[in-house]
Order: sequence, then C-alpha cells, then structure tokens
Amino acid sequence: HLYNILQELRGNIRVFCRIRPIFKFEAKSCIEYIGNDGSLMVFDPCKSQNTRKIFQFNKVFGPATTQGEVYKETQSLIRSVMDGYNVCIFAYGQTGAGKTYTMCGSSNGSCEELGINHMALNDLFQISSIREDIKYDIHVQMVEIYNEQVRDLLAEDGANTKYPFMLIFFLSNWILIMNCSGNGGLSIPNASIRGVQSTADVLNLMILGEKNRAFSSTAMNHRSSRSHSVLTIHVHGKDISGNTIRSCLHLVDLAGSERVDKSEVTGDQLKEAQHINKSLSCLGDVITALAQKNSHIPYRNSKLTQLLQNSLGGNAKMLMFVHVSPESDSHGETISTLKFAQRAS
Ligand code: ADP
Ligand code: MG
Repeated sequence: HLYNILQELRGNIRVFCRIRPIFKFEAKSCIEYIGNDGSLMVFDPCKSQNTRKIFQFNKVFGPATTQGEVYKETQSLIRSVMDGYNVCIFAYGQTGAGKTYTMCGSSNGSCEELGINHMALNDLFQISSIREDIKYDIHVQMVEIYNEQVRDLLAEDGANTKYPFMLIFFLSNWILIMNCSGNGGLSIPNASIRGVQSTADVLNLMILGEKNRAFSSTAMNHRSSRSHSVLTIHVHGKDISGNTIRSCLHLVDLAGSERVDKSEVTGDQLKEAQHINKSLSCLGDVITALAQKNSHIPYRNSKLTQLLQNSLGGNAKMLMFVHVSPESDSHGETISTLKFAQRAS
C-alpha cells in the first residue's frame, strides 16, 4: 500500500482516528466508516448537495471498537519504551469526542473500560518483571499545562505552596532529575518525580494528580477540557554488564480542540481559548515540520512542545489519536479535527 510506504518514509509518526459511538439523544451521524484500510468518509446530512469528504489515516477505529482492540494496535509502540525509545501518545479532538475515555478509561472501572495508560503500565511492569537480563526502574511525573503555565500535579500539598517540603522533595529527587536531563533533557524540569513499583502505585498517584488538578478549579470539568495533561513514565534499565537505557513514555490528554466563537466569550475564557489555539497549532506545526523532515522544528513556540521536545523527532515515536464525534451537529468540528490530523500524515 503506497500510503503505508510513504508513512514509513516519513518516519515515526502514526495517526489513528477513533470514532466514538453515537448517543441515543444525538441527531444523525455524519460519518461513514469505510473499513479496514484507514479511511473514513464525512458528509453533512443536513445539506442537499454532495458534501462527502474522504480522509485517510494509518488506522480508523469505528464506534464498536473496544478499549482492548485499541490497545492491541498500540502495544508494540508502548513496549518499545522498554528498549530505549521515547514515545509520545496524544489524544486530540473536540471536548466530548472521547479523548479521556481512550487515555484513562471510563470511571465505572470494569475491565473492559480500562484506558491506554492503565494497560500500558500493566504491560511495562510485566515486561520489567519477566526480563531477567535487565533491571528496570520506573518513575512518573504528571503535569498540566493551563494558559501556557506548567503545574506539577504530584506536589504533595496540592497547591504547590509548601516550599520547605518541596525543597526536601526536590533535593531527594535532584540526582535522578539531573540524571534524566543529562541524557537529553528527558525530564520535566522542576516537577516532582516519583518512583513506582506497580500499576497500583501509579493509579494512586494519578488520583492525587486529579485531586490537585481540581484544587484550583471550581468547575473541574471545565478545567480538564481546557488544559493539557501529561503523564510521563520514565524508564531506566541496566543490564548485567552495566549498560543503561533511558527512555520515557508521554501520555498526553490534550485540551479540547473546538473553536471558540470570539464574539461569545470574553475575559478568562477568551484567554483560555487563545492559549489552546496557539498551543495546538504549535503542536501541529512541529508535527508537520517533523513529517516533512524540515531542518528547523519550531519547538520553542509553546510550553507543550518545549516540554516534549526530546520525545518528538529523532528516534522518538509518536502516535496521534484523533477523536471525532459522529453526530451531525459536530460536522464542522469533525472536519477541522480531521484536517488538523491530516497534516501529520
Ligand atoms: P473528552 O475527554 O474528549 O472530552 P470523554 O472521553 O470525556 O471526551 O467522552 C465523552 C463521553 O463519551 C463520556 O461519557 C465517555 O464515557 C463517552 N465515550 C467516549 N468514547 C467512548 C467510546 N469509545 N465508547 C463508549 N463511550 C465513550
Ligand atoms: Mg477529557
């Protein structure tokens, strides 16, 4: 398949599209899912003329796809972290399209609903426990980027204000942080980094992270859809002869990509919208530059791309999950989401 060959040539960028199921109360669907070749067709059921547009990605997951099936297609990428590759996985799309569902699963907690981050951690810890030739250490960081400001979500105190405690914490983690950043700046500077032994450890930290995220916001849902959240898993492996590998996996749940009507919002909401637009378009620019193998990659134009700089490009692997809602009211957003994603492929 020519598309796949091109994709190989373009390096380590993959784009998967996921269509969430239509809800009972929603109007007609505007997406036809074509099949197994990674294409989908979008049309506007409210217009009489032909509005059909076809998009092509590495893979398309239809509404009936389970979390397990999505993970299966992502697994080899995630496992490559244990061999020393840096991997970035992004969830992109308008609010309500299923980003958090893919990354974190749904809150009812039954096995079928586990998200990529949970299944990825299970996988990494399992590999770590069976590989006898390499001893692995795994650490995590969790930050949110809101209005171009980075916030440490694993700070003990919740509000990042207890400096003496933070100081002790920083000192105790300093060596590790220096180690990580010494090897190409893999670490998120100044954010807490925690050693973990099991998926349960990470899930507990994620609960703390979500609590910290809610701390500063009365409207938790609003905040979570208006900020990017980044869970980073640092892997440090050492074999018997003392050779080491360092790599990390970033799991990024991006802010909602919906366009906000500038005539309808003012003040804080306008500021939020402008920051989100800017950072998502910077991410798009970086990905386009990488896909085109440009010599200049504009990492420095946003906090998000600055933070992830060392895990985007080079040998690093990237997967963009674009999420779309099938209902016809979202037709406009769906088209612009898919156009954004097409830039990367
Ligand atoms: P986002 O994070 O993009 O704003 P959510 O992940 O919160 O969107 O999804 C919105 C709603 O749709 C949630 O109630 C979620 O459980 C549901 N949902 C999303 N994707 C799926 C899916 N693939 N299967 C079933 N329910 C889904
Ligand atoms: Mg969400």
